[in-house]
Amino acid sequence: MTATPHPSLGAPGQGAAADLGAAADLGAAGGPMAVRLIDVDAGYGDRIALQDMDLEIPVGALVAIVGPNGGGKSTLLKLIAGLLRPWRGTVEVLGAPAGRESRRVAYVPQAELVDWSFPVNVWNVAMMGRYPRLGPLRQPGKRDHEAVEAALERVGLSDRAHSPIGALSGGQRRRAFLARAMAAEADLYLLDEPVTGVDVPTQEAIMELLAAEADEGKSVVATTHDLAAAARHFRSIVAVNRRIVASGSADLVTNAEVLARVYGGHLLMLGDRMGVLDDSHHHDDASGSERHFHEDSRGGGS
Ligand code: ADP
Ligand code: MG
Repeated sequence: MTATPHPSLGAPGQGAAADLGAAADLGAAGGPMAVRLIDVDAGYGDRIALQDMDLEIPVGALVAIVGPNGGGKSTLLKLIAGLLRPWRGTVEVLGAPAGRESRRVAYVPQAELVDWSFPVNVWNVAMMGRYPRLGPLRQPGKRDHEAVEAALERVGLSDRAHSPIGALSGGQRRRAFLARAMAAEADLYLLDEPVTGVDVPTQEAIMELLAAEADEGKSVVATTHDLAAAARHFRSIVAVNRRIVASGSADLVTNAEVLARVYGGHLLMLGDRMGVLDDSHHHDDASGSERHFHEDSRGGGS
């Protein structure tokens, strides 16, 4: 498919998506799908957040949802998790309507939304991953303990099992939540900004674990606004800014045309390097409907 320069991809009423690789380009065409959105609109109150979403994520994918702040990344994850109902269209997850297969789905919210003062230790955080299997009455059994132990071992927190979650560093907290997801032994991981704000070694460790999960046939969908991290650590991307702006292999995010479409005028060229000037860009901004992608900003510095 060809890249059609389009000055107003953020605006309503334009063609649905992805000139740069259709949703099916996330690999494994014809294979089983972990996630399928068909013609979905969603929002909050009377405000639309996502529009005309058609998306297929194959089983075994390691996909980054990228896009500016407010672009709808978290909303997309919540739709897939079944936490938010679409206004229109259908969301299928692991072959069933979203929310139905919740035992097979591990959702981890953005760290900023977690109350870290909640008095719970690392072991119990990981055990929470087993709750969907336990139900309200069953006590954790041997199998649950083994799953928690294995998960803590994998994220390198075995020796912190009895520490209160609030006593951990930011990176350790993130790993504790990853352990919760892994203890669930889910088939689909939905991770909201799992590597945002953590140090590079922790990023590497987390992404190594997720890549290993994908290699085992699990599906991993994670949001990030860190484009460099997306290109480096994920195998495919979906770029959203109210709509799906592009999707395809992860190196798409190094494509200037795609970046311009995702970030509108908030992109800076510095020689051959690209940076996002203003991550608070919002799709309601009038400026978002114009491209300011000047040759003359090369080397401009500020
Ligand atoms: P991102 O994760 O890409 O930063 P979000 O999915 O959080 O974007 O937000 C998409 C849009 O939906 C934004 O305009 C945001 O203000 C709005 N939004 C997100 N969550 C809520 C909510 N709980 N109530 C009302 N509006 C929301
Ligand atoms: Mg978000």
